[in-house]
Amino acid sequence: MKETTEPAMGEMHYFPTVLDAIGNTPLVRLNRIASDVPPLVLVKMEMMNPGGSVKDRIGPNLIAYCEKQGLLRPGGTIVEPTSGNTGHGLAIAAAIKGYHCIFVMTDKASEEKRSLLRAYGAEVVICPSSATHDSPDYYKNVAHRLAEEIPGACCPDQYSNPANPATHYASTGPEIWRDTAGRVTAFVAGIGTGGTISGTARYLKEVNPAIKIIGADPPGSVYSGDTPKPYKVEGIGMDMFPRNYDPSLVDEVLRIDDRSSFHWAQRLAREEGILTGGSAGTALAAGLAYAKRLTANDVVVILLPDTGRGYLSKQFNETWMRENDLLVQAESDQPTLYDV
Ligand code: PMP
Repeated sequence: MKETTEPAMGEMHYFPTVLDAIGNTPLVRLNRIASDVPPLVLVKMEMMNPGGSVKDRIGPNLIAYCEKQGLLRPGGTIVEPTSGNTGHGLAIAAAIKGYHCIFVMTDKASEEKRSLLRAYGAEVVICPSSATHDSPDYYKNVAHRLAEEIPGACCPDQYSNPANPATHYASTGPEIWRDTAGRVTAFVAGIGTGGTISGTARYLKEVNPAIKIIGADPPGSVYSGDTPKPYKVEGIGMDMFPRNYDPSLVDEVLRIDDRSSFHWAQRLAREEGILTGGSAGTALAAGLAYAKRLTANDVVVILLPDTGRGYLSKQFNETWMRENDLLVQAESDQPTLYDV
């Protein structure tokens, strides 16, 4: 037999475009952090999508929906209000499909997330986060106005576009069911547009109505029954109910404050080696609080929406944390699992 140093000739493995590399994110067991709760606790690693967040999943489908409706034609412009991640997902799909992008964000969005959007070639418009939803300066109103004014522009509107929850119904839900071999008993996620939790919950409750769906929400958001007020965690919470949130699918919404959210995100990085944004900390705090009530027969899946690389100047910056009174100072001041 002829000796060879050449690799064996077999099937090549590659994706036709980066869009095909979206989804199928792994589930990872939490070991140290979840050692004092009875269930198996798994986290779904959405930061492993090509753009670093769960929102990569919806980008191509939001665009396809607009194309099908005849709202977006070749060379057109996408205008979307976003906290950043949907912008990244749309920008990736737009790069491949040849659309121009304008993203409208509030001044609360981290500098890193703004720069990332510009890196994909998008324009970024910043609005005051103090503007309420009846103000012309409110970021969603600005996006809709720009979409009307600019010829060939369209606003996919992740808050009402049915392709948002439909994507999670078709991918996130089935992946969790498949990867837990149907053993998942609770799913925990933060709520921004509601697309992730509503679409995933619809699938999971269809295959097993006993699965509990738990929302994680900052104080100052309507999902947990609060009146609107500012908070620091990005991408979750809302000042009014969007069309894509279906409360009938959510069994309970737990309220988690900024300090707990950032504390648990920091622990994820330091104790499990998983770098995430603050909203992952919110979901984790809610998931661990809920898991305390469960048994060793339960399997809890907590969705971690994005990478911590978008927040190095904020939650991973001690000065910013101190300035915003978010540091956990002493043992007695440690946020507990029930710090809601
Ligand atoms: N976390 C982060 C960081 C986000 O950007 C988003 C999306 N805004 C969410 C959570 C919530 O996802 P959804 O909009 O699907 O509810």
